[in-house]
Amino acid sequence: MLGSNMTIDFIGDEYTSFDISKITTIRVGGKVSKFVKPKSLSDLRFLIKNKNKNKIKAIIGKGSNTLPSDKDVDGIIIGMSDFNKSNLLQLKNNIFTVSSGISAPKFSKFVGNYGYSGAEFMTAIPGTIGGLLSMNAGCYGTEIWEIVKSVQTIDFAGNLHTRTADDYNISYRCVIPKHKNEIFLSADLVLIKSSVEKVKDIIRCLMLKRISTQPLEKFSFGSTFKNTKKISAAQLIESCNLKGFKIGGAQVSLKHANFVINADGNASSKEINDLIEHITIKVLNKTGIKLEREVRNLGDGFEF
Ligand SMILES: Cc1cc2nc3c(=O)[nH]c(=O)nc-3n(C[C@H](O)[C@H](O)[C@H](O)COP(=O)(O)OP(=O)(O)OC[C@H]3O[C@@H](n4cnc5c(N)ncnc54)[C@H](O)[C@@H]3O)c2cc1C
Repeated sequence: MLGSNMTIDFIGDEYTSFDISKITTIRVGGKVSKFVKPKSLSDLRFLIKNKNKNKIKAIIGKGSNTLPSDKDVDGIIIGMSDFNKSNLLQLKNNIFTVSSGISAPKFSKFVGNYGYSGAEFMTAIPGTIGGLLSMNAGCYGTEIWEIVKSVQTIDFAGNLHTRTADDYNISYRCVIPKHKNEIFLSADLVLIKSSVEKVKDIIRCLMLKRISTQPLEKFSFGSTFKNTKKISAAQLIESCNLKGFKIGGAQVSLKHANFVINADGNASSKEINDLIEHITIKVLNKTGIKLEREVRNLGDGFEF
C-alpha cells in the first residue's frame, strides 16, 4: 500500500539502453540511454517537469518519417505512440477530438466504419496523428491541416494551449509553429457524414494504388524527398537512372524511385544518408533542381 505522501509519478513504459532502430520504420539508429512512452497527460507533465534531469533529445511518434544517426544518444527520447491511445471523442456531429498518440490509419478506418469521410487518406500514412500534424502529412490531394479545426498542445513549461492553423506557417509537408517547442496532445478534426460503403470504397481504391506503386513490404520512410511544383521527385530521380542504385544496404527502390529502402534490414544510417546525398547531387547536376528532404533527422522540430 502507498503511504499518504507517496504518488505514482509515471505510469508509462520506460526502457534503458534502447535500440532506436526498433522505433523507426527505416530500421536504423544507435541506442538511446532512455526511451519513455507517456500514456497520459500527467505522465507527459512529469517528464517535462523533470526535463533538465531527463535531458530530452527528441519527440517521436511512429518514427515513419525519421532518420536517426548511428551514434548513441545520451538522454531521453519521448515516444508519443501510446499517448492517450484510446482517447477519441465525438464532440458534435462531425467533429472528432483525437489524441496525438492514435495511429492515423486506425483513426481513418474507425471513423470510416461509421460513415465519416475526409480522413480516408490517412489509411495510407503509417504515423501518429501528432506526426501527421507536425509534417502536414497528406496524399492524393488532401493534407491533415485542411481538416483541422484546432489542436491542443503543451509547452515545455507545462502550460496547455489551444491553437488553430493561424498559429502556424503551414505549407506542403511543412509546419512552422509561431510558438516553438510545443508537443501536440490532440486535434479537433472536421469530417463529413457520408456512407460506410462510399468511405470503404475510397479506402480500398487508395490502398490498391499504394500497394501497386510503393514497396510497402520494405523498410522505408515513405517519400524521401518533397515533390517540386512542376515535376515529382520520383521522375527526377528516375531521369538519373538511379532506380536500384545501392550504397551498402541502402537502395533506391526499384518500385518507386522516391523511396530509399533499407533493402535487407542491415543498412546503417550513414549508408541511408550517403544515398540521400548522392541522389541530391546527381539530380542537381543533371536537372539543376535541388531536391528538398521530406525525411527529418531525429530531434528536428524542437530546441531542447
Ligand atoms: C510506407 C510509408 C508511406 C508513407 N506515406 C506517406 C504519405 O503518403 N504522405 C505523407 O505525408 N507521409 C507519408 N509517410 C511518412 C510518414 O508516415 C508521415 O510523415 C507521418 O506523418 C509521420 O508520423 P510519425 O508519427 O511516424 O512521425 P515521426 O516520424 O515519429 O516524427 C516526425 C516529426 O513529427 C514530430 N512529432 C511526432 N509526434 C509529435 C507530437 N505529438 N507533437 C509534436 N511533434 C511530434 C517529431 O518530433 C518529428 O519531427 C509514409 C511513410 C511510410 C513508411
